[in-house]
Amino acid sequence: MFKGILIENDDAGYRATVRDIDETSLPEGDVLVRVSHSTLNYKDGLAITGRAPIVRKFPMVPGVDLVGVVECSMNPEHKVGDTVLLNGWGVGEVHWGGLAQKARLNGDWLVPLPSQFKPQQAMGIGTAGYTAMLCVIALEKHGVKPDDGEILVTGAAGGVGSVATAVLSKLGYGVVAVTGRPEETTYVKSLGAIEVIDRSVFSSPGKPLGKARWAGAVDVVGNHVLANICASTKYRGVVTSCGLVGGMDFPSSVAPFILRGVTLVGIDSVMCPRIDRVDAWHRLGLDLDVDILRAITREVGLEEALPLASCLLDGKIRGRVVVDVNR
Ligand code: NAP
Repeated sequence: MFKGILIENDDAGYRATVRDIDETSLPEGDVLVRVSHSTLNYKDGLAITGRAPIVRKFPMVPGVDLVGVVECSMNPEHKVGDTVLLNGWGVGEVHWGGLAQKARLNGDWLVPLPSQFKPQQAMGIGTAGYTAMLCVIALEKHGVKPDDGEILVTGAAGGVGSVATAVLSKLGYGVVAVTGRPEETTYVKSLGAIEVIDRSVFSSPGKPLGKARWAGAVDVVGNHVLANICASTKYRGVVTSCGLVGGMDFPSSVAPFILRGVTLVGIDSVMCPRIDRVDAWHRLGLDLDVDILRAITREVGLEEALPLASCLLDGKIRGRVVVDVNR
């Protein structure tokens, strides 16, 4: 038996509880991992609370991220005793995930833990931080350089936003952070932001084109915020879109794209090819100050993770929550 969060949805309703689970119930896979840590991402919050239909199979162990030690392997890439990490691939949605002490997985989904990080630090980064790095890499690949001008980061006190702010600042970009929580201004500035703007500036319907200010952007919000960012991006600037905390809509016009040559880049971490994941984690090892992870992260056990899921969705969590599944 092992402990884990189990989501059930039946006549008794939708519920997530910490349970003793029999190892024989684990799904199929060629690698068995003894999980040490997982984390809470926005998607995990949705899965645990049931506020959006993230879970597509019941019962489900949530947790789109995990790190742990290989206990048994039929996969030539991974041997017993290796420390591995996993982000996405539908884990926690269609395949049992990381918020449990054991996980049986497809070995092709696993990435070796980069030597720079301890297991809990890797989960301090998690899908949120790895997605932030995918956004940074996309800005670079599209030619955005620190001298080109300011980079706007939305949801700056949240998971993706905190890591994006820290990494971009370390790389020499001037980061302007957007937050809906004025009380987090000091925190966001401690990550390197040169200026903090209130979320309300971006959240109402705006004009098709505004004053051109941003050389690039990392957006986790979508909706009017994303539309307003595109409308205020400089000639040939690049906007990365990875989130929808403000809604799925994108009430924009083509004006920024056809008149200013703005590029809108979509970022997906879930099905991202392995080669890009390994690159993103390698870059996190180089470009994220591990000391900053202490300020970004708080650690909890499985039981404490349950009530934090709705706090996360309500935008009340600073930075990242690491879950020690053995606590
Ligand atoms: P998070 O830790 O909960 O952070 C989200 C932040 O967004 C909040 O802390 C808050 O920051 C801000 N926010 C919350 N509600 C808002 C609203 N209604 N309008 C504007 N801003 C709001 O979540 P996360 O893990 O960083 O994820 C952020 C988004 O990215 C989510 O939509 C998630 O699903 C998505 N995501 C996508 C991928 C991908 O592969 N594309 C991967 C990871 C995450 P402030 O208080 O500072 O404003």
